[in-house]
Amino acid sequence: MADDTRRPNSSRATRTDLVHAGTRRSQYGEVSESLFLTQGFVYETAEQAQARFIEIGPDEFIYARYGNPTVAMFEERIATLEGAEDAFATASGMAAVSGALMSLLRAGDHVVASRALFGSCLYILEDVLTRFGVEVSFVDGTDLAQWQGAIRPDTKAVFIEAISNPTLEVIDIRAVAELAHANGALLLVDNVFATPILQRSLDLGADVVIYSATKHIDGQGRVLGGVVLGSREYIRKTLEPYMKHTGGSMSPFNAWVLLKGMETLDLRVRAQAATATHLAQSLQGHEKLSRVIHPGLGDHPQADLAASQMETGGTVLSIEIAGGEEAAFRVLNALEIFTISNNLGDAKSIATHPATTTHQRLPEDQKAELGITPGLVRLSCGLEDMNDLLADLTGALELA
Ligand SMILES: *Cc1c(COP(=O)(O)O)cnc(C)c1O
Repeated sequence: MADDTRRPNSSRATRTDLVHAGTRRSQYGEVSESLFLTQGFVYETAEQAQARFIEIGPDEFIYARYGNPTVAMFEERIATLEGAEDAFATASGMAAVSGALMSLLRAGDHVVASRALFGSCLYILEDVLTRFGVEVSFVDGTDLAQWQGAIRPDTKAVFIEAISNPTLEVIDIRAVAELAHANGALLLVDNVFATPILQRSLDLGADVVIYSATKHIDGQGRVLGGVVLGSREYIRKTLEPYMKHTGGSMSPFNAWVLLKGMETLDLRVRAQAATATHLAQSLQGHEKLSRVIHPGLGDHPQADLAASQMETGGTVLSIEIAGGEEAAFRVLNALEIFTISNNLGDAKSIATHPATTTHQRLPEDQKAELGITPGLVRLSCGLEDMNDLLADLTGALELA
């Protein structure tokens, strides 16, 4: 299959880079990437140890919290995919989000964020940063006037999730980047729902892109991981010192699993996104549903914006079951292929009831404001046959 999506820092197509970029071979010439399951490294002489502590060369390592060859392969591969100058791999998506923000900010700084955020991201912004004297303003991410009102000359960072969870609202990255840059602020984008395959946030104006690699990048439900991508200056001068001293670095074993995940990332994400589009289109107007939400649908409130910044609408759709929580639970319990869980981007299709699980702790008025209604079910499409999945859903919906 041909693939013409080439990244600015590579002469090769994405699919080729996903298989080869960043590979470092040992003297044995192994085919598959080596798993360097080692905490540290030995030096031939005391002088060599001294030199390495003064300056670490590009293929030199000291201690796995600072860097490891398997982790370096993962960082280089995803930086190539994203078209980023550099990347730092972290223990989880949340280590990436918290590190990206904490390493950048100090007391007295101002941050603006969209309100519809993953619960743990909201916790970092609302509970952690504010404890250290950072002022945080929240806006409705889809309302440009609110961004205009909130971003000020002393704003240091703007944080968004490109597509919100679970109501799949789309934020205009180009417009928010322009406002942030006009005020000297950096735009940090959590790009998990959009995926590195379907949306290139750095090209749209983001300065820093963050992933939970636990989601599509592993995509097979095995390990936690995260990564922060950006300029060499930001990654090496701002983020790396913070991460290596506070301990949120990625395990070499997880990096090895994620390298294998990246080989099939493009194939999986495109297949899963095609399934999500098919399910959304097929379920539109279903008598038991009051809403079907997918950024690829023509009736999505930001359909044009979604089409202008994403290749397709992504691998997740949300449906609102007309009978509320009781009906939603009947549907969830009747599903035979979709599993009830809270991951996303996995090879296995997953159904989540946000109001009682991932967003349970939000006060009722905030749930209502964010559209997290009792009937809302989030569906992450996996790699199963799309017609089997549709039959599973329509069968379960008969019980709603
Ligand atoms: C899952 C997720 C995270 C956190 O990632 P972990 O790997 O679970 O720490 C952050 N942001 C978004 C949008 C997510 O979906």
